[in-house]
Amino acid sequence: MAKIKTLSSSLRIADTRSVKPPPKQADKELASPEYRAWAAEVKRRAGYQCEWVEASKRCYVGAPARLFADHIVERRDGGALLDPANGQCLCGSHHTRKTVAARAARLRS
Ligand SMILES: [Zn+2]
Repeated sequence: MAKIKTLSSSLRIADTRSVKPPPKQADKELASPEYRAWAAEVKRRAGYQCEWVEASKRCYVGAPARLFADHIVERRDGGALLDPANGQCLCGSHHTRKTVAARAARLRS
């Protein structure tokens, strides 16, 4: 019984529930049924595979990898939210690379 008491008191000390940051506010635009339909169409059109092309080779990573419906021209750069022509399906690593590159380009301009 003494051991259990010690364990429970150390668990209380390690409890971080009170210091967790509040959950991120979800982007309202990305929660709309219109956006979800756009994202589903972009992925379907791509055959549920990454469309990234580099040195004339397409990535083709697909399920079970997570896929992202990406805005080719990002919304904060004026890209249309729901235009299928502004969408492409990307795997996680290419989505990250593209997002980082777009941010860097934004900082340069
Ligand atoms: Zn990819």
